[in-house]
Amino acid sequence: MTPIHYLYLINAGVFCIVGAGLLLVWQRHRSQTFARDMGLATISSALLPIGYLLHLSLSPRWVPIPTLLALLGAIPSLLFLSSGVLRLAGRRLSPLAAVSIAVSASLALALPAAGNKLFYWPILYLLVLCCMGTLALRWLWPKGGVERWVGPLLILLGLNQLFLIVYAEQGLAVNIFWATLIRSAIGAVFALAALEGAIRESARLAVRFQQMTEHTVQGVVVTDGARILYANPAVRNLYGVPLGQGAYAAFGDMPTGSFCDQTMQRQHRLLQSGVSTIANWENRCAVAGGRQLELRFEAWRVDWDGLPATQILITDDTERNASARALLHQASHDELTGLPNRSVLMRQLRQYCYLADGSMHCTLVVLNIDRFKLFNQSQGDLAGDQVLQAFVAALQQALGERGELMRLGGDEFAIIDPSGGAVREIADRLRSVCVQALKVPEGEYFIDASMGVAVFPDHADSADALLRAANAAMYQAKRTPGTSLAMAEQRFVQMSRDSLATEQALRKGIRNHEIYLDYQPKVDAVTGQLRGFEALARWRRPEVGQVSPVEFIAIAERTGLIVELGAALLEQACRQIAQWRATLGTCVPVAVNVSPVQLLNPGFPQLVQQVLASTGIPAECLTLEITESAAIDNLEDTTRQLAMLEELGIKVAMDDFGTGFSSLSMLRQLPLSIVKIDRGLIEPLPAPDAVAVVRAICQLAAALDLEVVAEGIETLEQAITARDAGCHVFQGYFYAKPLGVAEAGVWMQRLVAETATEDTESAELN
Ligand code: C2E
Ligand code: CA
Ligand code: CA
Repeated sequence: MTPIHYLYLINAGVFCIVGAGLLLVWQRHRSQTFARDMGLATISSALLPIGYLLHLSLSPRWVPIPTLLALLGAIPSLLFLSSGVLRLAGRRLSPLAAVSIAVSASLALALPAAGNKLFYWPILYLLVLCCMGTLALRWLWPKGGVERWVGPLLILLGLNQLFLIVYAEQGLAVNIFWATLIRSAIGAVFALAALEGAIRESARLAVRFQQMTEHTVQGVVVTDGARILYANPAVRNLYGVPLGQGAYAAFGDMPTGSFCDQTMQRQHRLLQSGVSTIANWENRCAVAGGRQLELRFEAWRVDWDGLPATQILITDDTERNASARALLHQASHDELTGLPNRSVLMRQLRQYCYLADGSMHCTLVVLNIDRFKLFNQSQGDLAGDQVLQAFVAALQQALGERGELMRLGGDEFAIIDPSGGAVREIADRLRSVCVQALKVPEGEYFIDASMGVAVFPDHADSADALLRAANAAMYQAKRTPGTSLAMAEQRFVQMSRDSLATEQALRKGIRNHEIYLDYQPKVDAVTGQLRGFEALARWRRPEVGQVSPVEFIAIAERTGLIVELGAALLEQACRQIAQWRATLGTCVPVAVNVSPVQLLNPGFPQLVQQVLASTGIPAECLTLEITESAAIDNLEDTTRQLAMLEELGIKVAMDDFGTGFSSLSMLRQLPLSIVKIDRGLIEPLPAPDAVAVVRAICQLAAALDLEVVAEGIETLEQAITARDAGCHVFQGYFYAKPLGVAEAGVWMQRLVAETATEDTESAELN
């Protein structure tokens, strides 16, 4: 072994050590890939001196081995070196450049024509290194830092090849000496650059972590299971505990239910033992100031300064949960009374019906306030709301623990008694509320209610059927005036099914103009001459036949369809009047019935005026018949509406007088022209007490200057007594039933003819 052999060995050894060092640096800081490339470049460079050593020591027949080693060392060495330098400058070696370097290196080493290997190879090596060095100088020098020395060192390493180019074999020793030194320096620079890069990287990550955690509203805690290693400001705000004095504050300060309770300890153990990778749990926690927090925790394993730790993310769900609960409450409760609504009722009923075994009963009461719509219209919505609230309070007090109260909507309530106790007891309690006056700021009111009771499983076998049965019973109770209660019966359900079908058919009927008018004549009590007609609504329901107006008008009133229907009928009557007037040259007043809902509609007088104008008939051709119920429920509004109609010149009749609530004083207060005595008072005529009543009404009417019409005259006897008692006009089957337009027209023609004869007679007499 000559000294040059040792030099080769030292060179190879140093390259291997420097290369391995760089690879180790890269292994710790994986993001610093340039260290890896330079490490590989340095290690592969070690193959060159080893190859040369073998070349010197082996016999010539082993020549391919050193050549192969030189090729294996030289090409990767150049490629990795270029790639490492470029990566350090934040760039990548393009595939084209890589191929060019590899091909040139192979040519320089392997071409037989290349001859002297200590000439062409060093030239190529010098060119590549000086090129890379110049580029590195341009890219890295301005950046400062240790990397700036890479450029000059590479150029130096390149220039070192001149010893070989110029002195060939004689320059080898000097070349190897300097190459070892410079390569070691380059390795050191790369290693330092990698460490600096890693430090910068972790500083950046630390800043990012801080930015993320210090400013987030979510709490972030890092713990090793026994101590708090880190807690962001949000945690301190959340718990109101001065956690800030040190990262190692004791857990003892924390409120129970916070992140440091037993649940966390368990989750920490599970995460650290690898049983789970992420943990989620929730907790309620009372914090400083007595606030109750609802917290959600999410935790996972982290390395904290090289220690195994658990990072916990704490989210305060208190507000979110509260608004979710509020939304749920809103969806399931009535706003005005705070009572559970229909959806809750159905849910509960289903539950009770599902749970109930054979021995269990569940009572359902459906309660509907009578005429509440009218109450609202007359007293205003505010008073209506107050009354509802007072009514609910009274119901709740009366029910106590017996039964759960719910509001189905508007003026309808439901009471469930899952104990299925005596129906009578619950009914008595509910009735007691309707007996007492409800005191509200606007005044004192009495309320009537209709109640339907159904018991599971006696009346129905499912929740829906139970509600249907109670509803049907409630509608049955509505037929009885005042507060009343009805027990469910199968036939009620059928009846309400029918009434629903009728309602649907009526809607269609109104749209298709199926409702028309018949006209019943009214005659003079003394002369028997035609004095007018009453227009009476008729509906021939397809496939069913004639439906009584008593039935369909009631449905129209209940559903609000009456406003539309009433307006259509008023127009129909007025068009008929106009037509008679046009063909016969005269007309008698036609009375049109007006429902209370219709009358109390603020736009009603304008509607009448509009119809008169559009049909072109004078106001005296139209009479309106109203019933007492409108006036009873709301005297003030009725008076105002009637006054407006009077101003238009329209006569108004009080219909069905003598039934129900009839009050004589009301006749005095309202601006009326006609009073119609109800059929119920005419029928018993000539019984003396009936005569006395009719006479009294007629006397009062005379005092008030009202015309009296007797309805339902069926016999001559009734007619005579009624006339003697003081009635002015008769209407009844004795004279005519309600007639079709054509027949009514005949009556009109007869009147025209009679008037004409009378006129000639009186002319002759004169
Ligand atoms: P109402 O206004 O009291 O009408 C008089 C009712 O008595 C009519 O019954 C008529 O046919 C009947 N009637 C007339 N003379 C006699 C008689 O001598 N004997 C008997 N037994 N009955 C007689 P109808 O047409 O069935 O109407 C019943 C009720 O329906 C009406 O009672 C009225 O309250 C309501 N109605 C009818 N048409 C309308 C309408 O266009 N609008 C409104 N709102 N209600 C109407
Ligand atoms: Ca009438
Ligand atoms: Ca009547």
